[in-house]
Amino acid sequence: MRKVKLLSKVLALAFVLSALMPLEVHADSIADNKAALAKRPDLDETGTKLKTSRTIDGIKYSLTIDLTKWSGYTNVEQFDHIEELFYQAYPPMYVRFGDYKSAPTDIIIAVEDEGYEVASAYGGGMNRIHIYDKWLDMHYDDFDALTHELGHIVSGGFQTKKLEFSKYEEVFAEYCRYIYAYKDGRYNDKNWELPDIYAQKTRDKSIRFLVWLDMETSSSNRDIIRDFFEVCCDVDFPQEEWVNVWKSLLKGTKFDGKTIDEVWKIYRDSDFSHYSSKASDKDSKSELIRKTDVRNFIKKNSYRFN
Ligand SMILES: [Zn+2]
Repeated sequence: MRKVKLLSKVLALAFVLSALMPLEVHADSIADNKAALAKRPDLDETGTKLKTSRTIDGIKYSLTIDLTKWSGYTNVEQFDHIEELFYQAYPPMYVRFGDYKSAPTDIIIAVEDEGYEVASAYGGGMNRIHIYDKWLDMHYDDFDALTHELGHIVSGGFQTKKLEFSKYEEVFAEYCRYIYAYKDGRYNDKNWELPDIYAQKTRDKSIRFLVWLDMETSSSNRDIIRDFFEVCCDVDFPQEEWVNVWKSLLKGTKFDGKTIDEVWKIYRDSDFSHYSSKASDKDSKSELIRKTDVRNFIKKNSYRFN
């Protein structure tokens, strides 16, 4: 009797623990992952790099997944996702922004069991991304951390000291994460939120404002985000000039003649700034996507995609 009671307690505890665990548990052992890697056709002769390339709309893109410092936490299925993400997310970003500062088309993504950060972009030619080997082990499908880093790669860096707000460099990378998210946001929207007006109350750091501005002004002959991007790459004017720069960025759009702060107020009071961008799982759409279809809208209407 006692034994039965104890067993039922153990089972109840196991049930509670399993309820607390994430739904997708990464159960592969390091040895399994290393054995699976050895069988891959895209593994190079050194046994430390996965190399692929594809030509998309006449442009050749190459990806090297560098596993020199990989300890076996990220698994082979996740490498497939990383490759797919690269060939889905990077080409449209490259076509829209990449020519301006000759962004690279051959990218290295190093999966490394070192470094505290989730991921970072760096390297001599600004073509190298680091992702922490244990990040995707702990956050199984947070693949779009890499889309953010690809946003840094395609920009090649802004003139950070001369920006209107120093956060613009990160805001741009996060804008790219949201718009170019892998598989139309299937993984991004369950793992990451596009902050709403309560989370980002001011214009200096608002990613969603940039997304909204793009949607509101996209047209066949105007791409305000591309023009904003060029200004941030080249900015060489005093801080007080930004007011006028925004005025010229807004020229030819529905906000022609308004100041950027007046446009911010329109955003702040809109429904768009309030909708939830969080999806409950990868098969659901967020309220923001259901109500505005913003990703497809921008891809359809921004002239750089056409
Ligand atoms: Zn960043």
